Amino acid sequence: MGAYGPPPGFYKNNPHVRITEEYCTGCMNCISRCPRNDVLRARKVGDAFKVWAPSPENCAGCGRCVNSCPTHSISIYLV
Ligand code: SF4
Ligand code: SF4
Repeated sequence: MGAYGPPPGFYKNNPHVRITEEYCTGCMNCISRCPRNDVLRARKVGDAFKVWAPSPENCAGCGRCVNSCPTHSISIYLV
């Protein structure tokens, strides 16, 4: 892996993303920053949008969504 890539073993941690929907405000920071297009989705719940993760196993574990979330609704867990 080059100097600008993730460290060795990064992907072997098998990161998964988890969204706590009750705290999500629908700001879309996480979706706009996610480098993958198959992990996070938004859906309408009443008058608001909520983000959820239909394919949490496709998460790369980069942490961009976690760092961009104003309500700490996102966490990364390893399996
Ligand atoms: S950690 Fe990275 S790859 Fe995983 S959902 Fe968040 S932004 Fe996307
Ligand atoms: S960044 Fe946080 S509050 Fe904003 S849409 Fe994503 S999960 Fe919801």
